[in-house]
Amino acid sequence: MKSFLPTEEDSHFPIQNIPFGVCQRADGHAHCSTRIGDFVLDLFELEQLGIFDSLGLEVPQPFDKPSLDVFMGLPHQERKQIREAIQAVLSEDSVHKAAVKKIIVPADSVQPLLPATIGDYTDFYASRWHASNVGKMFRPDGEPLLPNWLHLPVGYHGRSSSIVPTGIPVRRPRGQIVLPDADGPIDSASRLLDYEFEMGAFFGGTGNELGSRIDVNCAAEHLVGLVIVNDWSARDIQKWEYQPLGPFNAKNFQTSISPWIVTLDALQEFRVEQPNREPSDPELLDYLKPNSSQGFNIQIETWLKSAAMNEAVKISSGNFREMWWSFEQMLAHHTSTGCPFRPGDLLASGTVSGPTKESRGCLLELTWRGTEPIELPDGSTRRFLEDGDTLTMTAFCQGAGYRIGFGELSAQIVA
Ligand code: MN
Repeated sequence: MKSFLPTEEDSHFPIQNIPFGVCQRADGHAHCSTRIGDFVLDLFELEQLGIFDSLGLEVPQPFDKPSLDVFMGLPHQERKQIREAIQAVLSEDSVHKAAVKKIIVPADSVQPLLPATIGDYTDFYASRWHASNVGKMFRPDGEPLLPNWLHLPVGYHGRSSSIVPTGIPVRRPRGQIVLPDADGPIDSASRLLDYEFEMGAFFGGTGNELGSRIDVNCAAEHLVGLVIVNDWSARDIQKWEYQPLGPFNAKNFQTSISPWIVTLDALQEFRVEQPNREPSDPELLDYLKPNSSQGFNIQIETWLKSAAMNEAVKISSGNFREMWWSFEQMLAHHTSTGCPFRPGDLLASGTVSGPTKESRGCLLELTWRGTEPIELPDGSTRRFLEDGDTLTMTAFCQGAGYRIGFGELSAQIVA
């Protein structure tokens, strides 16, 4: 498949991708959009051209508002048809070339916004490597994994109100922390600010009713697509507050997501096997057993730039295929009690870590709780994030001669 708008081999946004997002243009108007190479295509304008009229959609004009809320609520089949219609409009033999050229704008002339109204947000803990590393650090004398971990995808209900798009600075959070050797807590700026590289999945379609489950083998059609998620974490606040109910203020001050929702349809050819189970691992209960593999081969990278550096340096690289639990298993487990999902709800995977040191997905693991600082090219070291640091995450799938990518998720730490 080729577009009349050519893209480089390493572009994240060839015609094979066609992600969905919302962008604010220079004139202040925000519209649903897609991305092709270095251009943004306005889906509201495309809708006005009548491109989607012949599809017989449940909602005839899904891109009428500056949010993907309506699009997210469409059934999978209709979302798929819309994406294919956009691909046809952008293809080499498109009859709409002239019209499209009039409504594309350079990607760097727009500002990405949140793609949809995120009602509920849940964060999981689905990497066995991450959970084992954290277990070894915090419970050196016990088993690295708690007894439930191999039986269910562990998660907690997060906070949707502080989810922000790329580019929004992170204000260093304040909270209760207990300094080493102190008797009690102080109210202070966090001194152990960390990031977590995660992938997130947006829920779509009509949702399940209160009291009903979503089957692990049908779960994919309820997921619109994936984004990169940075689950900023204040480790000192977390350490003091997390027992017995899990993370609270340590993670609710900000969560950042990348601008483009890359659809599961675009990612389909990058499906891979989930990691092998050890012979000693317990058998999964039936509702968590998929009939086919649900992993994704997505390469991920994290880059850090201090205020004194001119260029960012790569501090970590790994692959999403290392995740032990799939998004489908997370959704099946989350709804196993009958908890209803609504379009726009966001599931995050938990920190994506792999077997090697360089593939660890947060500073807590990379610096082993601060005991093995990272050296930066400016001569400084990092145990955790400093004010002025800019953290940038990127991810892509490598195809034959093209990439399906997520672009960048970037934010600077401010005091
Ligand atoms: Mn997390």
